Amino acid sequence: MRVGVHVSISGSISAAVDNAIERDCSAFQIFTRSPRMWTAKDIPEKDAKEFKEKLASSKIDVDATVVHMPYLPNLASPNAATHAKSVQVLVKEVERCGKLGIPYLVAHLGSHMGEGEQKGIKQLADAFTKAASVKNDVTILLENTAGQKNSVGSDFDQWGEILSQIKPKNRFGVCFDTCHAFAYGYDLRTEKDVAETFKKFDTSVGFDNLKILHLNDSKGELGSNLDRHEHIGLGKIGEKGMAAVIKLANKRNIPIILETPIDNTRDDFGNLKKVKELA
Ligand SMILES: [Zn+2]
Ligand SMILES: [Zn+2]
Repeated sequence: MRVGVHVSISGSISAAVDNAIERDCSAFQIFTRSPRMWTAKDIPEKDAKEFKEKLASSKIDVDATVVHMPYLPNLASPNAATHAKSVQVLVKEVERCGKLGIPYLVAHLGSHMGEGEQKGIKQLADAFTKAASVKNDVTILLENTAGQKNSVGSDFDQWGEILSQIKPKNRFGVCFDTCHAFAYGYDLRTEKDVAETFKKFDTSVGFDNLKILHLNDSKGELGSNLDRHEHIGLGKIGEKGMAAVIKLANKRNIPIILETPIDNTRDDFGNLKKVKELA
């Protein structure tokens, strides 16, 4: 099993590797910069080198490392200025992943702001096509959404449709978020539910495109459209469902990343321990 959490880069980018090792992670996710800002300072050559050296001398497989896009960009935005700014960030993050030697960049699909799904999908296809012009081998992973108002890419058929519209194929894949799928309405509570939901996923999107799994339990009920993550097994999906998803990911050797809360109930250590137990 390859499993880990989203780790902080506070101090320096290579601190992420220390944080991952400390938590006994065999996979991890980072932001390469503050996720709440539009702009970011370039990564100094020295910092990138230090990150790569630390990672290479660790037991963590580089193929199990992921960058998550910052929060502000909306790649589906119908507004030309917002869209252009968002694409600029996406392009930059693809470049930064390349510099760090991280193979995957996870991107949210965003909101069409009431202009309609078709417009949103067109904007997304446009954004991803531009980002793929960056000359490196970073794979951009499209993450499913929880179905909040005006969001794009919650329904598996639509998610697959977006993926089919962008090229070249080898530069794109998907990241499946269990909380988002459940909140949208895909049941994951029992082994049977998990099998059925992933069968639908396979038909619409395709297992071959699944590169990373975001394993999060859900604070919201099935179909609630709430994007609120819960500790593994303590949410509305529960232990049975989480265990079935973990087994399914392990069978296909998909790295698992937790984006679970840190609070009085549990921290990263506690959630990772739970995943290992359920596996
Ligand atoms: Zn996620
Ligand atoms: Zn989420």
